[in-house]
Amino acid sequence: MTGAAEALRLERGQAASFCAEASIPPPAPRRSALFPPREDQQRWDDLLSQELARADAQVAAQPVAPTIDLAGFKRELAGFDFETPRALDAMLEWTVARMERGIVQVTHPRYFGLFNPAPSFPAQCADRITATFNPQLASSTTSPVAVEIEAHVIRAFARRAGLPPEATGHFTTGGTEANYTALVCALTGAAPRFAAEGARAFPGPPVFYASRDSHRAWLKIAHQAGIGRSAVRLVATDGAGRMDANALADALRADRAAGCVPVMIAATAGTTNAGMVDPLVDCGAIARSAGLWYHVDAAWGGALVVSDRLRGRLAGIELADSVTVDPHKWLATTMGCGMFLAARPDALSSAFHVSASYMPSKVADLDPYMTSVQWSRRFLGLRLFLSLAAAGWSGYGAHVERSVALARRLEEQLAAQAWTTANDASLAVLCIEPPAGAADVRAVVRRVVASGRAWVSEAVFEGRPVVRACVTHGGTAPEDVAALVDALQAAASA
Ligand SMILES: *Cc1c(COP(=O)(O)O)cnc(C)c1O
Repeated sequence: MTGAAEALRLERGQAASFCAEASIPPPAPRRSALFPPREDQQRWDDLLSQELARADAQVAAQPVAPTIDLAGFKRELAGFDFETPRALDAMLEWTVARMERGIVQVTHPRYFGLFNPAPSFPAQCADRITATFNPQLASSTTSPVAVEIEAHVIRAFARRAGLPPEATGHFTTGGTEANYTALVCALTGAAPRFAAEGARAFPGPPVFYASRDSHRAWLKIAHQAGIGRSAVRLVATDGAGRMDANALADALRADRAAGCVPVMIAATAGTTNAGMVDPLVDCGAIARSAGLWYHVDAAWGGALVVSDRLRGRLAGIELADSVTVDPHKWLATTMGCGMFLAARPDALSSAFHVSASYMPSKVADLDPYMTSVQWSRRFLGLRLFLSLAAAGWSGYGAHVERSVALARRLEEQLAAQAWTTANDASLAVLCIEPPAGAADVRAVVRRVVASGRAWVSEAVFEGRPVVRACVTHGGTAPEDVAALVDALQAAASA
């Protein structure tokens, strides 16, 4: 057969098969990998639950740091060209096994790391429920129960923080989105024309204030908001990791004299490196007298409001126009869960109002798509709702009080071995320095992590390198603290 004849035959064959397809009814549904029949789902669900329970128990007996050979894993991953479908049950086992050895295990009781919690069990249940129903929380009409649950938790939390009764807010993907929300509210409040004209609405460059130890996401936030990273004024600290209120007042005066337009003071309640709380009352008073938006970034420390014994450490938070709290940190929900609390609802609706013909409802102060950064929205608030409902304020209070007590214990045991604590560790974050003559901070951290016995990190506190250890796991026991002390001692004297 010539090439041309062959081509013609193929073409005809194809045409014939298209015709045939058009004239017969659609095939009976195959077993779909994406939407398998219920009995398969049940079987795989059971398998997954068993695998996860096994892995969860296994993690505590393993090194905290990853042990996987990453080069080998990348080669294995390259084998997934997605041409040939694979069996889901095998894939579930494969994924759990790789996770078991392929990440820093934040659910390990000797993970004394950054603010990444072992998630509460109710929060994990919430994720399953949310995944099954997959509600869309953009509008109150489509998911009324879910929207009301979130609003209820937000109001309860805002009241607990001492904000006014009309305070409102919403769940965010984390602290960064919540802090971004604060800046947009501050800019819109300072110049309503900001909504239409952006930074051009201001007679001079808009600027805002946070301490030198504030979270560095503020730089990205200023960038995204269109006022530029140079708008972030990193105010000096007082030698103890807290914003220096006098330096703040000086910076404000200097900026005004130079023609800049201050719009916001963002105090931190629980710095990321050291858990320090800025002078919230003084910062609030300065913001009030200067007519600025007062934001309190309590991403980590805000959890203390759940404890009757410890919430006094956040005195002044009630003066805020807005507050960031991350449930995915000390409140131990699963990852990707923040909160933005606003003292006045109108601030949110003027910053985020919008209208779209296709949206099923348009309730200005209720529909999340009209009061927040996001549009399509996951039911994040269920994680905190179920956790709070199951534990109550008292159960959550016990959780944060326990972390603080264990951090205190760690501090005492290290002090007995001539280590010093550079910060005030009352928010369960310790910045520690090895004894004189011991190995330096970098070597200590490297050795502890490499030992697999515990996980700590390196930080800088008031210009000094420190080992940072934070108690984030609700199941960390005194023995785990003792094991960390041993690991630190061994690393410092090696
Ligand atoms: C973690 C943290 C943030 C950033 O929050 P994400 O949830 O990581 O986006 C902001 N501020 C402080 C004080 C934090 O500790």
